[in-house]
Amino acid sequence: MLPVMLDLRDRACLVVGGGEVGLRKVERLLEAGAAVTVVAPAPVAGIEALAASGRLRLQRRPYRDGEAAGYRLVFAATDSAEINRRAADDAEAAGIWANVADEPELCTFHVPARVKRGALQIAIASNGEAPFAVRRLRQLFERRLASEWAAWIAAAARFRTRVRAMRLGPEAAEALFDRFFAATVAPQTLTARVPAPEEEAAWLAHAGAPDGPRPEPAPRRPGFVSLVGAGPGDPGLLTVRARQRLMAADAVVFDRLAETVLPPDLPECVELHPVGKEAGHHPVPQGEIDALLVRLGGEGKRVVRLKGGDPYVFGRGAEEAEDLHAAGIPFEVIPGVTAGIAAPACAGIPVTSRDEAVRVTLVTAHESARVDGSFVHWDQLAHDPHATIVAYMAVSSLKQVSANLLAGGMDPQFPAAMIERGTTSAQRVVRAPIRELPAAAEAAGIRPPALLVVGPTVHHADSLAAFTRRPLFGERLALAAPAGEAREALEEAGAEVVEAPLPLTPAARVVLRALPLTGCVLRTPSEADAFAAEPAAWGGEVVAWCLGAETAARARAAGWRRVVEAGADGTWTALVAAMEGRREAPRTR
Ligand code: SAH
Repeated sequence: MLPVMLDLRDRACLVVGGGEVGLRKVERLLEAGAAVTVVAPAPVAGIEALAASGRLRLQRRPYRDGEAAGYRLVFAATDSAEINRRAADDAEAAGIWANVADEPELCTFHVPARVKRGALQIAIASNGEAPFAVRRLRQLFERRLASEWAAWIAAAARFRTRVRAMRLGPEAAEALFDRFFAATVAPQTLTARVPAPEEEAAWLAHAGAPDGPRPEPAPRRPGFVSLVGAGPGDPGLLTVRARQRLMAADAVVFDRLAETVLPPDLPECVELHPVGKEAGHHPVPQGEIDALLVRLGGEGKRVVRLKGGDPYVFGRGAEEAEDLHAAGIPFEVIPGVTAGIAAPACAGIPVTSRDEAVRVTLVTAHESARVDGSFVHWDQLAHDPHATIVAYMAVSSLKQVSANLLAGGMDPQFPAAMIERGTTSAQRVVRAPIRELPAAAEAAGIRPPALLVVGPTVHHADSLAAFTRRPLFGERLALAAPAGEAREALEEAGAEVVEAPLPLTPAARVVLRALPLTGCVLRTPSEADAFAAEPAAWGGEVVAWCLGAETAARARAAGWRRVVEAGADGTWTALVAAMEGRREAPRTR
């Protein structure tokens, strides 16, 4: 089928049938300026009204054989299949395009659904085969495209007229059109604006006159580095601006701590540079990271430097920024949610609370390891019962920090906690009085990244740890995109969902491996195959939650060891219930 836009102004069009369907066709034809005739013995009131006001010609009688021949387009929308067919046959014999309501086989054209913003029209069609899907898509675009697109398309038309009047060569003209588009359309948000007259004038002035000097080649775009805070690990805590920068980046340079929040739908053309920083373990030395940022920026790329938490909180972001500044590379900082505030919150520990804690100290525990003496005066921190201490990088030096606080005079019973992987599906919390915490953390096997929290509000975790009480807390599930309702249902129940496009993108692979998965939801046999093709992502313990017996059989054949058939009735509540049931069952392994 070939989509075309017909100029129907003053052209004769026939609508056979005067019901509600016929009325809708009439309305669209009138909107296009057509000269409409309706043939119907008993038309609905809407058609009568249009006829009365002279907007169409109404023949109150049945269709006559051969009548279609005098028109440009024919719509047949009567409730008689026989009459509809005759009208369609007549049209075909006369070489006229015909559309029969709800009979795709009889149609020689379809009217696409469309989203209209002024002269801008987006047509949506399915060869008449899935009108319900088309209708829903149309609603989606109706919501997404604001009315400013009407003004934008008018501005684009005016701009084209002005460019044409300059009689430039095709390349110079295209360059101007590129400029117009880039400056006025935000692809991520599908928003548009009308350029100011001065902006347009400046673009046109640069393009030069036909007989004048050749336009200068566009200057190479300078690079730009965004130092972006990735938040504490929960992908939902990435900021809106961070996501915008990531989706528009040429290159992303990321730490281990930031891996869980990479958007799995990051375009494949985005360069990924893992620099794998972990506590006490720097596979890529800081100097090389700084040099990489300067190099990428120097190549004119839009670079995102993605760092766990907030870039300027114990993240060496300031050092990277200073290097960029010294190298003359423009940069920005996009703050992130720091783990020191977010992880306690998800552990049920407010870092301030009236009448309990009126001050928070964010401090590095790593400093205790300095041979030349620490800048941190633990003895001073030990004396404030109405303050919260949040210590980053706290695992290896926990014993030392605890000893320093006790030596400084802290009450050995003062409440304290270690929070590992806060805000994620792998969050673990160990609480104990400060004197006993090192032994308790060791017994629990707490590993980095973890924070130490010491303060009078730690006890709130008794009542406020709702984050970990949700029925599916701790589940980390892979699900093929688009996950839609399934994702909502699973997240509501407390699971972490990785929505991965299939075939897997490089970014999705990084995310899937960033933390252990507990399960993979497989809706179809082909999803089972696609996910199974990624063996490194699946340890033996990953449960394949399969919808339907066929999918389960395919998962088993593909090598999954733990296969559960669930939710075959197609509702997500059944799947969620199955997962919850399995978790509640006593562990008999
Ligand atoms: N810029 C980061 C901190 C980087 S230092 C921020 O603002 O959060 C790395 C330390 O941060 C880790 O050793 C750990 O102490 C802490 N950390 C980061 N993410 C964490 C998380 N999800 N849970 C607990 N601690 C975390």
